[in-house]
Amino acid sequence: MPTLAESKWLTRFLDETPGDSQIGGKSRQVPNACWSRVVPFCPPNPVLKLWSNDLANTLNLEKGDDLILGGGRVVGGMDTYAQRYGGHQFGNWAGQLGDGRAITLGELDVNDSVFELQLKGSGKTPYSRFADGKAVLRSSIREFLCSEAMHHLGIPTTRALSLVTTGEQIVRDVMYDGNPALEPGAVVCRVSPSFIRFGSFQIHSSTGDYSTLQSLVEHTVKNHFPEHSIGDDEGRISWLNTVAKQTAIMISHWMRVGFVHGVMNTDNMSIHGLTIDYGPYGWIEDYNPNWTPNTTDASTRRYRFGQQPQIGAWNLARLLESIVPLMDNPETLHEVLDTYGDTFDHHHNKMWAEKLGLNEFIEDDKELVRELNTLMQMCECDMTLFFRMLCSIDSPDIHELNDAFYDIDSIPTDEWNTWLGKWFKRTGEKPNRSLMRAANPKYVLRNWMAQLAIDAAEKGDFSVCEELQNLLTRPYDEQPEFDEKWFKKRPEWARTKIGCSMLSCSS
Ligand code: AMP
Ligand code: MG
Repeated sequence: MPTLAESKWLTRFLDETPGDSQIGGKSRQVPNACWSRVVPFCPPNPVLKLWSNDLANTLNLEKGDDLILGGGRVVGGMDTYAQRYGGHQFGNWAGQLGDGRAITLGELDVNDSVFELQLKGSGKTPYSRFADGKAVLRSSIREFLCSEAMHHLGIPTTRALSLVTTGEQIVRDVMYDGNPALEPGAVVCRVSPSFIRFGSFQIHSSTGDYSTLQSLVEHTVKNHFPEHSIGDDEGRISWLNTVAKQTAIMISHWMRVGFVHGVMNTDNMSIHGLTIDYGPYGWIEDYNPNWTPNTTDASTRRYRFGQQPQIGAWNLARLLESIVPLMDNPETLHEVLDTYGDTFDHHHNKMWAEKLGLNEFIEDDKELVRELNTLMQMCECDMTLFFRMLCSIDSPDIHELNDAFYDIDSIPTDEWNTWLGKWFKRTGEKPNRSLMRAANPKYVLRNWMAQLAIDAAEKGDFSVCEELQNLLTRPYDEQPEFDEKWFKKRPEWARTKIGCSMLSCSS
């Protein structure tokens, strides 16, 4: 297999969209551009610590190249740049954002596919604003492990090829409370068909630069949605319907496994409907739809678990607004929001049928699901354990699922057994258990699991990271040798620990 240096690279994005005439340079506004060429920062001591064999096989890449993957070497064929985009952050238009600490190496041409390889944490770009362009080890581990775990859960996501420690110490104030400390730096090489976001289109529309907007739309559709042609409204709508469907499907998967993105700003919404920008994300443990892992969002909980489908629609509406200037009849864009809603409902129902082992979803099942949702919130109930253990329950007796509850004495036994009786009857006492096991993962990357991996890695031991990476390549399989360690409720120590129950955007 070839190394990165021997691989074939394309520069479609740079060739087909307008860019900045200046290379690198200080933080600034870069009007009328989709990108700025930037040279990554050369770290003092790049060491490859984590690697995805699975992704490397897809990319047909030989393991290694610590220096390139750490940003210290740009080889022939690569043309490194940062993308310019804008975004709505927490509901407010934030203007120009862009890749403040992500630098694309190039577009890797592998067999019939093309993948963008991007270094996250590789130094300043014109879009870094007041920040340093770097990333710390803890957030890099979280992105590496979670994006690979999501892929193996069957959830659309960007991926991670490698994690390189840089040998640098960088300053972060984790909880933004006036306690800055030095932390090890790292660079993750992430991989996606592209890192184009909703905000990539919004920025041009917001400044009235419709010609750059048109170039970006043409580039995106030509290379990433080639089944569509955008010569007229009908074509544009049909492309956007695909974007809407892919976004809705992604979010229905999040709801299935209890994933909370945490920062669903429009700059963090991939045009491909891929989970992107792993920051203060979290996994629901106690089933609470109001939960958000992100302390920055603690007061309004805009990005709480249960609101993600609505936020997906809100974000899509912002994308549609940005396409309005290219439309002959902008009002026809409403259809795309209907597509989003219909697709989400369809997949949501299908997901519930699968989670509950029903071979099809009928209208009456909505009530069954509603009652289950209410019950699961009556006392602390672990989402992952509950659904996984439900796959093998023998009789409608809630005490078979005791291990899924944080306080057994608080379980409303009668209500639960009534519901379980209804569910059992609905399945003809034969829930489709293999369907259930394929929809209810046994292992997910709970925050405290990631934190244990981080604590060890910060002491130089990456074995916990590797163990989790390995475990999470088969999240639906029984792996009994790991049950005592990883198939269990949140330990008490993690209830209030930073990085477990609370995460800030600091990374
Ligand atoms: P996020 O909410 O993490 O997706 O980031 C929002 C914006 O802040 C993006 O434009 C990022 O590139 C930028 N950003 C975040 N962290 C840094 C950093 N350490 N240095 C430079 N830019 C950053
Ligand atoms: Mg982002």
